[in-house]
Order: sequence, then C-alpha cells, then structure tokens
Amino acid sequence: MVTNVFSPLQKSKHPSRNQILVKRDDLIDPYISGNKWRKLKYILLQAKNTNKNHLVTFGGAYSNHLVATAAACARSGIKSTGFVRGDAVENEMLLLCKLFGMELIFTDRDSYRNKYLLYNTYFHQNPSTYFVDEGGASKEAIIGCAEIIDELPDDIDHLFCAAGTGTTAAGLLKGIQQRGLKTILHVIPVLKAGSFITDEIFKYTGSVEQLNLHTDYHFGGYAKTTPKLITYIKTFIAQEGILIDPVYTAKMFYAIDDLLLKGAFKAGEKIVALHTGGLLGIMGMKDKLYKD
Ligand SMILES: *Cc1c(COP(=O)(O)O)cnc(C)c1O
Repeated sequence: MVTNVFSPLQKSKHPSRNQILVKRDDLIDPYISGNKWRKLKYILLQAKNTNKNHLVTFGGAYSNHLVATAAACARSGIKSTGFVRGDAVENEMLLLCKLFGMELIFTDRDSYRNKYLLYNTYFHQNPSTYFVDEGGASKEAIIGCAEIIDELPDDIDHLFCAAGTGTTAAGLLKGIQQRGLKTILHVIPVLKAGSFITDEIFKYTGSVEQLNLHTDYHFGGYAKTTPKLITYIKTFIAQEGILIDPVYTAKMFYAIDDLLLKGAFKAGEKIVALHTGGLLGIMGMKDKLYKD
C-alpha cells in the first residue's frame, strides 16, 4: 500500500466552528477509509512479513472494516475472507466486498461470537491465512493510529475522535504520550454504556490521564439515530461541504458543537476533530437521510 497519505488538516468553514480544524482522514481513500487505513497498514505489513497471503476477518453486514479489508487486500494482491454476522443479505457494502474479491461467509449470531473458533474451524489447516479481529483491533492497529499524531501540530489543546472498539482512540493517546504532548484526547463512544472504552484504552496506554470520555452522545446506541441527529447531519454537510456518517463521525461532530455551545473550551484553544471516514455508512441509512 502507499505510505504517503493525503489527509490535510483543514479549517472548518462555518463561523460557529472557527476554533475547529478537521483532520481529513476520510480523504485517504474512498474504500480503505480513514481509521481503517491506519489500522490495516501494519496488519498488512505483519501478514507479509510472516508470509501470509490471505486475511480472514469479521464484521456486520454494514461494516466499514470489511470493505476496507477487501479493498486493501485487492490492492496488496492478497486474498480476503469475511465472516459476516447474521443471515445472508445483499447490500451496497457487501457488493463492494465482493467486487474487491472478498469471499463472504454468513454466520449466525451465536457462532459469530467465538471468532477464534470460527477461524480455526474453517482455516486451521491453511498456513497462508492471517486472523484479523473485528474492526481490525490489534497492536498493529495501535501503531498505525498513533502515527496520526505525527502528522498533526504539537500544540493542539483538544483532539476529538469517535470510538467503536476504542482502538483508534488508544492509538491516538499512545501517540500523544510518545511525543509528550499536553493534548487532551476527547473520545465519543458511539454505543451505549461506552465507559468500557476507558479500560480498553488503558490496556494499551497504561494511563488515561489525558483522556476525556464523553458517554452521552450515542443517540440510543450503535447505528441508532434520532431525528435530531439526522437534521444535524444535513445541516453540517451543507454548512461545511464535508460528508459525515450517521454511525460515527456525526456523533463526534455533534458532541463538539454541543460542547462549544456549552462553553467547554477557552478562547484561542486549538481544537482538532479527526474525521475517521466511514462515509459508506451513509448507505445504511439512506432512507432516513433522504426523507425531509
Ligand atoms: C470503525 C470506525 C470507527 C471506530 O474505530 P474504533 O477503533 O473501533 O474505535 C470510527 N469512525 C469510523 C468512521 C469508523 O469506520
């Protein structure tokens, strides 16, 4: 894969966000999008270094990670298999996976829970395969995500990201610690009861002193939305000319705007929002977004 990424740091357009800079990881690639590119970078390298030419991974039927893995494997000239949670369905995301040559194995929810068992059942005799956990969670992913910090200025006061598993956030905090920066990392869990993310991050970083977890912006849970969030998405996209997705980045930007309104930041503080990509997630909610 290319190692020179295109991910500019841009000023937000709308006057209400004049303190906000957006790190455009969504521009890295339309399919290996945002943090999924960061996570896969060292996973692919590790696979290559251990002579594996076939990634096996896991995701839901609208998983950004599955599409990203399929595309990244195709570009790297290696095979990919995706275990898909739930009954066989057809959608835009799985179509892209198939076009990039991924083999899909639909798996009932019970079997899906034990990923190592699934992997072993299908691939234990296949030494060319490489296990990649759901969402790409791994120590390789942490290294890739920590590199985002190297591309940012050192004097950021507040850095924001959305979290599903918390791997990206852990990598960012690790990067902040490695460089000895004073930046506070603000993390928006997109699922209900997101406080487990703190433990997840602590596992990789050993300290959560510079972490600020905001657990009240999940809008009902993973992939859940409310009319308020849908309205917010439409307004934001029209104001900024930047697409955001309803599952992850919309909840993060909503949180930032809400905190701005509440006066949570001092004048002159430098705030960066990491746009983690995931724009294909719009496809999973096109009916809601199309309606007025
Ligand atoms: C997968 C994804 C995330 C979540 O990343 P984690 O490392 O699992 O916390 C955030 N944003 C977008 C757009 C994603 O696709």
